Amino acid sequence: MRRVKLDEGLYIGGEFEIIAGPCAVENSGQMEEIGEFLSKHGIKILRGGAFKPRTDPKSFQGLGVEGFKILKKIKEKYNFKIVSEIMDPRDIEMAHNYIDIFQIGSRNMYNYSLLKEMGKTNRPILLKRGMSATIEEWIKAAEYIEVAGNNNIILCERGIRSFDDYTRNLLDLMAVPIIKEKTNYPIIVDPSHGTGRRELILPAVKAAMALEADGVMIEIHSNPEEALSDGAQSLDFEEFRNLLTKIN
Ligand code: PEP
Ligand code: MN
Repeated sequence: MRRVKLDEGLYIGGEFEIIAGPCAVENSGQMEEIGEFLSKHGIKILRGGAFKPRTDPKSFQGLGVEGFKILKKIKEKYNFKIVSEIMDPRDIEMAHNYIDIFQIGSRNMYNYSLLKEMGKTNRPILLKRGMSATIEEWIKAAEYIEVAGNNNIILCERGIRSFDDYTRNLLDLMAVPIIKEKTNYPIIVDPSHGTGRRELILPAVKAAMALEADGVMIEIHSNPEEALSDGAQSLDFEEFRNLLTKIN
């Protein structure tokens, strides 16, 4: 399997990595609080959305470049690697100044212009599965990035649409062994968007570990009830600490 290098001694692929952070960067104080907490608990990769692909145009759309600047400040203070989504090919060049892993969100997995442009950088790309994408389509999307020149690709299973809305999506955990069998890409699991329910994060993480996924990406918030997006699936600090003790 190919490993994606993030830093000396830090890879996706091999060890089980936990990526964590809020759904969206809301303000500097929020990121400081979350960054300090995660750093204290040994987390090395911080997530936070600044360009948010929201279903409702009236929902919070993210802070944009301001959000990237906040992420960079926290990165420098705590020595994190940063994951954040880029939706527009025109933002890729600018993003190099702030972001270590470029996320392609579920809604953009089929955006072939974006995939091709991502192929021209050498930054690691976190490619989320489209919410209605077959495994074949998802692998082809990764190949678009690769044939354009970038093979630093990490796949992320984040759940697919199903008829049952008890969970936000249906987390297709069998994607993990299937991707391992069919490709060389490392694969992580996003139990937050995959389930939409905080009480299901721990069992989903345990399952991802049992399936030998290369890691998970988990949403957390200092005060989920007040979160500007995805509060219902975000762990609070106590719940995150509990998760760490249960899996270690
Ligand atoms: C996210 O991770 O911030 C996100 C929007 O997820 P997805 O693209 O999987 O919906
Ligand atoms: Mn989210």
